[in-house]
Amino acid sequence: MTSIESEILGLSGKSAIVTGSGSGMGRATTKLLSQLGTNVLAVDLNFSEEQNFGTSGKVICHVADVSNYTEAEKSVNDCVNNFGGVDVLVNCAGILKGGTIFDLDFTDWKRTIDVNLVGYVNFAKLVSTVMVKNKTKGKIVNVSSTAAMSAEPGNIAYCSSKGGVVSLTKALAIELAPYGIRVNSIAPGWTRTPFAMAYVNKESEEAICKRIPLGYIAPPEEIAGNIVFLASDLSRFMTGNIMLVDGGQLSDSTIPGIGY
Ligand code: NAD
Repeated sequence: MTSIESEILGLSGKSAIVTGSGSGMGRATTKLLSQLGTNVLAVDLNFSEEQNFGTSGKVICHVADVSNYTEAEKSVNDCVNNFGGVDVLVNCAGILKGGTIFDLDFTDWKRTIDVNLVGYVNFAKLVSTVMVKNKTKGKIVNVSSTAAMSAEPGNIAYCSSKGGVVSLTKALAIELAPYGIRVNSIAPGWTRTPFAMAYVNKESEEAICKRIPLGYIAPPEEIAGNIVFLASDLSRFMTGNIMLVDGGQLSDSTIPGIGY
């Protein structure tokens, strides 16, 4: 990276916490941030042995359950102790447990809300406290989903948790704006990670791609680029924004046979 790029993005030499770093888009975001010279405290329930984030910024892996406040606190302290503060938080860890309103298992419901929403609040509370104390004009990026805006049957808990992330993002953005801390959310559509591909086979992949105007399931690196944009100085005037990254899926209300 040239010094001009580094100046424009404002990420080199900064420190970030990325939850859900062990896989998928959290992993791709950690790699990209590290490539841009950011030191990253990577948080996940587990990391595979062959995990190799590479490159320019230092990456420290911290095993923690985001839904547990004490474990989240240890992660944030680890980042402060190693990197001197926190400039960027990416809340990305997530789970999906299916169920309709009729067969919803309340243990699954509670776990989904605990990981996908309470986990985000835990890190946002801890990190914004550090940012305010250090007078850091930091950035928080919360990963929501198209499922927050457009529902699928049998996905009650997940859709509710991701809708909560949208509202959390706006509420945090307003509370933290006076401190110069920006809070935005990204709402990805279909992304090629173990999380989503567990529900996809050859036939359903064709059906999914037909619903996406750009015609493909995104690699996690393409989502990571948008997360990093929101964490960078390029998005300086954005806060409280929900950025849809779905290949055009939710913009498409085509009804076959209808012409104008
Ligand atoms: P992934 O399963 O590849 O990665 C999620 C990571 O979160 C995993 O490494 C997992 O171990 C970790 N995790 C789960 N529970 C945790 C906990 N309690 N504490 C710490 N870490 C935990 O999935 P992904 O697709 O990269 O998902 C990342 C985020 O993107 C999630 O919030 C997901 O809801 C969201 N999302 C995914 C898609 C998609 O199509 N893949 C679409 C929209 C939104």
